[in-house]
Amino acid sequence: MIFDPLLGLFSADLAIDLGTANTLVYVKGRGVVLSEPSVVAVKKDGRGSYKILSVGEEAKKMLGRTPGNIVAIRPMKDGVIADFEIVESMLRHFIRKVHNRRTLIRPRIIICVPSGITQVEKKAVRESAESAGAREVYLIPEPMAAAIGAGLPITEPTGNMVVDIGGGTTEVAVISLAGIIYCKTVRVAGDKMDEAILQYIKRKYNLLIGIGTAEIIKTTIGNALPNEKIETAEVKGRDIVTGIPKSLTIDSDEIGQAISEQVEITVETVRMALEQTPPELAADIVDTGIVLTGGGSLLKNLDVLLREKTNLPITITENPLSTVVIGSGKALDNLAILKEITI
Ligand code: ADP
Ligand code: MG
Repeated sequence: MIFDPLLGLFSADLAIDLGTANTLVYVKGRGVVLSEPSVVAVKKDGRGSYKILSVGEEAKKMLGRTPGNIVAIRPMKDGVIADFEIVESMLRHFIRKVHNRRTLIRPRIIICVPSGITQVEKKAVRESAESAGAREVYLIPEPMAAAIGAGLPITEPTGNMVVDIGGGTTEVAVISLAGIIYCKTVRVAGDKMDEAILQYIKRKYNLLIGIGTAEIIKTTIGNALPNEKIETAEVKGRDIVTGIPKSLTIDSDEIGQAISEQVEITVETVRMALEQTPPELAADIVDTGIVLTGGGSLLKNLDVLLREKTNLPITITENPLSTVVIGSGKALDNLAILKEITI
């Protein structure tokens, strides 16, 4: 036991944000060293077994572009582990990638998981980290990591509201005294917006686009407040009627309409959380406001819309895509806090 701090020093402890869209890894003393899509491409044979072809960035490029026997899988779909085995392989791949051979000692690993994770899923995540070489595994809830990453005073008796809009889920949490007082997860976030854009363009223009194209449209001209400032984008896909590839121009107003249902659900989820927050904490939130994080919080004007609808101060974290992993990294440096928030 007495050598433990020393071991930690040489073992390059890790913090991992296992997100539905992106996985990030933070190495103690080095910061965020990896950020890749949570995608795995596998080749299947006829007998039900498979071989992993690529993981992360490379695998994401294959989404929608694979021949019959190859599939690009997102093993964390909708905020739950859809495929345990693939998640385990993905974790092992990323851990090996950042953990060079010079580090001889098994690391301590923190993994952030959705707060609504089941016992079975917890066990699976823990075991995959152990089989990937972890000495100790700590699971911490994502909203807590997000709050730490945002620099909120989580151990104080003040209410803090964090809204994490990711790929698969939107999670609203109220935190006080290092505990989660309220948490609501809805399975509507970035992915559902991409899907809505795809469907909209298919219905309106008979143009079939890939889900990756839909995501690019969202991140370039998507807007939570249509009519604000019209922007346009060129979209390429396949004409459903003629079967021939074609391109057309769409504008941000149309995309705003396409994703309006998802935006509405986000606003409603926040409003519900405010209604269900105990009065003393709600009073705190009037002053401290709401912190937005996750890639989805980058949707243009979402913060403006939420400010309009709640009349509360709304801030977006400095780097929404890495707030959770940075928060987990900070927990690596503070064992007292880590022990308190581990689930
Ligand atoms: P997760 O934690 O579920 O892995 P992330 O926090 O990494 O999710 O966010 C990924 C989501 O954020 C994706 O749906 C992506 O399309 C979306 N996103 C990233 N940048 C933007 C942007 N500028 N505007 C709107 N959505 C964005
Ligand atoms: Mg996330």
